[in-house]
Amino acid sequence: MSASPTQGSLFGLDALFDNPLFAGGIGLASLGAAAAFARKGVIVALGAARRRLLVNVEISKQDPAYPWILAWLSQPRHAHGFIASRVTRIHDLSVTTTTDSRGAGLGGPATAHFFLQPGYGRHIVKFGSAYIAVNREKHSTANMNTGEPHEIVQLTTLWAHRHAFEAIFAEAHQLAAKAHEGKTIVYSARGLEWTPLGDPRKKRPLGSVILDEGVKESIVADVKDFLSKQQWYVDRGIPYRRGYLLFGPPGSGKSSFIQALAGDLDFSVAMINLSEMGMTDDKLAYLLTKLPKRSLLLLEDADAAFVNRRQRDVDGYSGASVTFSGLLNALDGVAAGEERIAFLTTNHIDRLDPALIRPGRVDMMLRIGEASRFQAEQMWDRFYGEVDQDGHGKKRFVARLETLGLFGKYGDGALSNRHTSTAAIQGLFLFNKDDMQGAIDMADGLIPRSFKA
Ligand code: ADP
Repeated sequence: MSASPTQGSLFGLDALFDNPLFAGGIGLASLGAAAAFARKGVIVALGAARRRLLVNVEISKQDPAYPWILAWLSQPRHAHGFIASRVTRIHDLSVTTTTDSRGAGLGGPATAHFFLQPGYGRHIVKFGSAYIAVNREKHSTANMNTGEPHEIVQLTTLWAHRHAFEAIFAEAHQLAAKAHEGKTIVYSARGLEWTPLGDPRKKRPLGSVILDEGVKESIVADVKDFLSKQQWYVDRGIPYRRGYLLFGPPGSGKSSFIQALAGDLDFSVAMINLSEMGMTDDKLAYLLTKLPKRSLLLLEDADAAFVNRRQRDVDGYSGASVTFSGLLNALDGVAAGEERIAFLTTNHIDRLDPALIRPGRVDMMLRIGEASRFQAEQMWDRFYGEVDQDGHGKKRFVARLETLGLFGKYGDGALSNRHTSTAAIQGLFLFNKDDMQGAIDMADGLIPRSFKA
């Protein structure tokens, strides 16, 4: 074994002491030197032994496994389940707090989540019969992309116990998968990296997003069909990509639908806002090469790229954001991931450039518009279905919206140019959660402000 040089030096020393020549004092002077030499030998040997006997695994913060391992290390010591074999000895914990203002009332407190994880420094963990040394370090150098300091977690154990690592990674992954069960992760671009935006969100049921008749079904069917056809694309050497353009006024459920669809498919969402400051062609192209696995790409405000082009044509100005050719290059790029489902959204279809409509860029274009009668009825059922079993309330509500001309025409069939949004109807229902008559009485609040004056 590699420890033998250490033992060899010590045995050598014993032999010297037994040597009668030493009794006479001869060589005493050299004993000090020999001891020093032996000590150095021990250190060198220990280093060699460490290199040969121990195994290290280093996980950097950029690696997807980093948060899994930290979560695994900070698991409480349950005496049941698959972590029964593990006894943690971590006493130095650090806390990461994320706050969430969703669901908080006006001025109300945000909810906070605390995630305890091993602090920086060294810890010892026992896994089965293996002792694992854990070293969490923050380096002084910074990540060029995010400006954050480099961070690593290093696990060390005996060579003989190296298989514990596989088991640990499997457990950590299983734990992470379990924590994300029923959740949708939304990634956003931070610098040149995709980072989760807040905590994973509870999956939104597809049924809770109410689009006009047949719209949702047609997109869902198309996406599912695409996902089942991978081999078809591979056989023909065609990039396995599909794009959808959803357009229409704000508050019509575009983002909600994409999030619900991702949840339904067990995908995450990778979101970029093209009108965001600092989003450039290069950055966009790079991010698209690094899309998180199993994610729907959501490019919001796609019209930002068209505006840019128009402005450039007019006055040669090219803003800091993405240009139209930059968007096309990023969508088409050879480097762009082979596998991709992209959703582009815009509130301004009039600014759309026809060059976008090409297989792999945008294969399907759908208007997600103002609330229709069909949507108003469906939303009513979701909110008041249980109390309004005979449907009288629904009839009165819809009749009122027609009287107000909110579906583009009045009750008598005369045209109106008024509409309302599904977001506004949802707001009205939320305000009158337990009071359907209240919702009917307050329906004139749905008239867009511009028509009220
Ligand atoms: P958009 O992306 O079209 O601007 P959002 O999806 O962000 O709209 O919707 C804003 C809010 O209104 C969300 O809280 C969403 O739940 C609600 N909402 C809007 N449209 C719908 C719809 N069609 N079905 C269900 N909820 C909707």
